[in-house]
Amino acid sequence: STRGEVSIENSPLADILFSRDIALHPLASAAPVPLPAFSGVEQQARCLCLPMVSSDLHPVGVVTIEIAEEEHLSFAVVQDLRMLTTVLTISMENCALFAQVLKDGLTGVYVRKYGETRLTEELARIRRYQGSVAVIFFDIDRFKEINDLLGHQAGDQALREFAQMVQACLRRDIDLVCRYGGDEFIVLLPHTTLDQAYEIAERIRCECMKHFSFAPFTNVPVSVTGGVALADHRMPLTSDELLLRADRALYRAKQAGRNRIEVWKED
Ligand code: GH3
Ligand code: MG
Repeated sequence: STRGEVSIENSPLADILFSRDIALHPLASAAPVPLPAFSGVEQQARCLCLPMVSSDLHPVGVVTIEIAEEEHLSFAVVQDLRMLTTVLTISMENCALFAQVLKDGLTGVYVRKYGETRLTEELARIRRYQGSVAVIFFDIDRFKEINDLLGHQAGDQALREFAQMVQACLRRDIDLVCRYGGDEFIVLLPHTTLDQAYEIAERIRCECMKHFSFAPFTNVPVSVTGGVALADHRMPLTSDELLLRADRALYRAKQAGRNRIEVWKED
């Protein structure tokens, strides 16, 4: 076509793609590779196996395509299937790369950009379908001192531990934690009231004080301060406005002496 697309309708390749069991088996997959692909008839299962070769020419998996006992694939069709396998392999690589860049290398939680994108989506959703989303802005207290007293590596360990501890306090697959930068973290809580968000923030603050009771943190208490803000359909905010409110609340909590949670209030 004029857009450079190739139609495969009515081709022998379409026959295979639309009617067969085609499976991708990355080498890292824990599941066993079902060879040959299941044809539905006992003793008659045959399949074509095509190696998945990565862009740096390493074997990364195998594609299996079921073939009927009496069937012979033409050379042209096999070539097409090899090309398709290459496309699938590159797509799989891209997915893995994408998953990697969404996560912060040190702590394993989401990166700031992803958190902001998800927040924007969540705010659009509540404008349309009603509901609410709460944000908690956390900043570890006197983190510079932790680095100075215990060393940068212990500082890194504290960030990792804190991020994992926060994650363990949240609803899996619903809430989201991201590293905003340095020792700042943001938690997004969909379908949550302000009171609930405050409670969750308090729980995390208390958990933080309990958590760091092992070496090298035994004599250097680690605490966290948080600011909480909420947006709902009656009070639509942009993601920047909502984050600014949580940040203001955090600032007030720091001013009030740290190791506490404040909720956003009009100045
Ligand atoms: P406050 O209670 O006011 O938050 O005091 P603070 O010392 O925590 O001040 P601030 O938040 O400004 O300091 C953050 C410090 O975090 C500064 C920086 O050296 C350190 N930091 C930022 N990123 C990393 C990191 O990836 N690893 C380590 N070890 N330290 C980091
Ligand atoms: Mg800090």
